[in-house]
Amino acid sequence: MRIARFVVDSDPMYGVVEGEPGSETVTVINGDPFFNGVERTSVKHKLEDVRLLAPIIPRSKVIGVGRNYAEHAAELGNEVPAQPLLFLKPNTAVIGPGDPIVLPEFSEQVSFEAELCVVIGRICKDVPEERVDDVVFGYTCGNDLTARDVQKTDLQWARAKGFDTSAPLGPWIETELDPEDLEITGRLNGDLRQEGNTKDMVRSVRELVSIVSQAFTLLPGDVIMTGTPAGVGLLNEGDRYEIEIEGIGRLSNPVVRR
Ligand code: MG
Repeated sequence: MRIARFVVDSDPMYGVVEGEPGSETVTVINGDPFFNGVERTSVKHKLEDVRLLAPIIPRSKVIGVGRNYAEHAAELGNEVPAQPLLFLKPNTAVIGPGDPIVLPEFSEQVSFEAELCVVIGRICKDVPEERVDDVVFGYTCGNDLTARDVQKTDLQWARAKGFDTSAPLGPWIETELDPEDLEITGRLNGDLRQEGNTKDMVRSVRELVSIVSQAFTLLPGDVIMTGTPAGVGLLNEGDRYEIEIEGIGRLSNPVVRR
């Protein structure tokens, strides 16, 4: 099931997206599916008539995982870390489909990173790998935007990874998906730049959720960005970056500089 968050007039709502590409509909559901389950109403819109929002504003955090594809670690001259390399992005970094990525003034080198994102459905801690599916709500596409220059010069990655608009998510959450063998692509102004598959992760999605939950209590709506495949590069004003993940859909964002 594809769960989207959207607006028609003013208040954000959740809905179920159904139908073939180009003729999808969104059926409004009652309340918040993270707490109420999915209860359909009789109200239905054409997808083209709604504005999609980030499918989730994380209640507490976005957790990032660094260097989880060997080829990507190598392209930046890094080793695959012996211990998982985790970082946080604040929920104020999250934007939705079509929202502009605003390049921060303090960086000249903002890079795109196409990533599969896990959306947590239940409060949990110390989750064994074989129980991970019980705590996952679904999966969405994400862009782990990174100020590469600041990442090198700051001791902590808070600015480099956590600036406003550094975490586009969407277009919706797919709740029925096996995450272990999915094609991920990223296109810069239509040109293929990143191409990978989640089966090439150093640590698998289920392994990551388990590892992350050993450090942090996870809340419904928390998001884990699972790392990017090779091919990362820099964004400039006027660019557009589009991420597509097999079984989920496409997330596209324009780039502006304030
Ligand atoms: Mg990343």
